[in-house]
Amino acid sequence: MINIVEKKDCCGCSACVSKCPKQCISMIVDNEGFSYPYLDKENCIDCGLCEKVCPVINQNEPKKPLRCYAAINPDENIRVKSSSGGIFTMIAEYIIAEGGVVFGAAWNKNWQVEHTYTEVKEGLKVFRGSKYIQSIIGDSFIQVELFLKVGRKVLFSGTPCQIAGLKKFLRKEYNNLITVDFVCHGVPSPGVFRWYMKEELKRYSDYVIKDIRFRDKCEGWKNFSFSIDLENIDSKECVTLSQTLHECSFLVGFLNNYYLRPSCHYCPAKQFKSSADITLADYWGYNQSDKIKDDDKGVSAIFISTKEGDRILHMVEPLYETVEYSDILRINGAVEHSAQAPYREYFYSHSEMPFKTIIEKLVSEKILNKARRKLYFLTHKHEYYKG
Ligand SMILES: Cc1cc2nc3c(=O)[nH]c(=O)nc-3n(C[C@H](O)[C@H](O)[C@H](O)COP(=O)(O)OP(=O)(O)OC[C@H]3O[C@@H](n4cnc5c(N)ncnc54)[C@H](O)[C@@H]3O)c2cc1C
Ligand code: SF4
Ligand code: SF4
Ligand code: SF4
Repeated sequence: MINIVEKKDCCGCSACVSKCPKQCISMIVDNEGFSYPYLDKENCIDCGLCEKVCPVINQNEPKKPLRCYAAINPDENIRVKSSSGGIFTMIAEYIIAEGGVVFGAAWNKNWQVEHTYTEVKEGLKVFRGSKYIQSIIGDSFIQVELFLKVGRKVLFSGTPCQIAGLKKFLRKEYNNLITVDFVCHGVPSPGVFRWYMKEELKRYSDYVIKDIRFRDKCEGWKNFSFSIDLENIDSKECVTLSQTLHECSFLVGFLNNYYLRPSCHYCPAKQFKSSADITLADYWGYNQSDKIKDDDKGVSAIFISTKEGDRILHMVEPLYETVEYSDILRINGAVEHSAQAPYREYFYSHSEMPFKTIIEKLVSEKILNKARRKLYFLTHKHEYYKG
């Protein structure tokens, strides 16, 4: 039976919960705001299935993609609403047109991120855009299996560890399953996000949330913004609160790795270990062709790992150029490397402070430490060069 000794050894994919034949595992939120499996030992029959499907215990070998592309969706409206080049929507539309079902991460009515599915093109808009908190898998692995068993084509999109978890849960290959993941920096804590939102919306108690966008391109793709649309309960007046990635303390904390899931610092599914057919990413700084201009509306990097992934991409036909894997790797280290966590402990041990204050303190501490390291190097450089 599953026994998590160290938190870094559970990515929270829920494969064990979904597989247990006695339903004796449930996901419980810890003090850092992440969910972990909790086992009701009384009902456990010690069948071992939970361990067999765990993608952290049973990691695949790292591999390299077959082919890589820079690409954009020619529909600019969709591209602007997507996080990078809008490729996910193109793939999803193709699957729907083929009579398939698409699973992805969407906001639920409590403004938590949750996996759900759609069978219609209009239903895809809720999946568009990165949501920077860990999504709840719920029953979606079980639903995927049901669709696959009756022969429906299924596209499942999620983090690499969710794809790895789904594949372990299914325990066999299905020709009608297509999986899309992304290069993953890590997932921030849903509990920390709730804390941030509570402070941020203190002055808006008579408003309701209508939408949340982590990757709003209102100030451009590179200088993306975190935006919240609000509506006044009585007057129905609408306001949008928007802050760029440098101004928004939640994004600053995310990008500095202060509250990622512990497993994200030892990612079990990076380097294409998830075995997804297609992996998407931001292609920052791509400016190598006449076909794809850097217009600050977003360019995707696409990694193809299977023949089926390549076939689908060519059916979908985005505007694309073939690129070298090493070119993407140079500007997107998260493809192969897990995020470091030097200030994580400090963040969680100061949770009595206002959110913004901790982030500001940590950022200035980081700048100070960088300056200290530089000064140390300058005053000791003769020792480095000698040795
Ligand atoms: C938590 C997170 C970390 C990321 N880290 C990086 C990174 O370090 N480097 C990089 O290049 N790209 C990263 N990305 C991916 C990138 O931002 C784009 O999502 C990706 O390039 C696809 O963009 P798109 O324009 O094709 O489609 P979009 O429409 O933007 O893609 C949305 C897709 O992402 C899925 N998704 C959104 N939020 C979540 C979530 N919380 N959990 C699971 N699935 C989700 C949706 O289901 C949908 O399939 C990250 C995305 C997320 C959600
Ligand atoms: S060993 Fe079997 S019954 Fe026990 S928790 Fe794991 S899957 Fe469930
Ligand atoms: S990684 Fe997934 S399968 Fe493994 S223990 Fe955690 S939730 Fe369960
Ligand atoms: S970094 Fe790895 S462990 Fe963390 S959410 Fe992404 S895929 Fe999962």
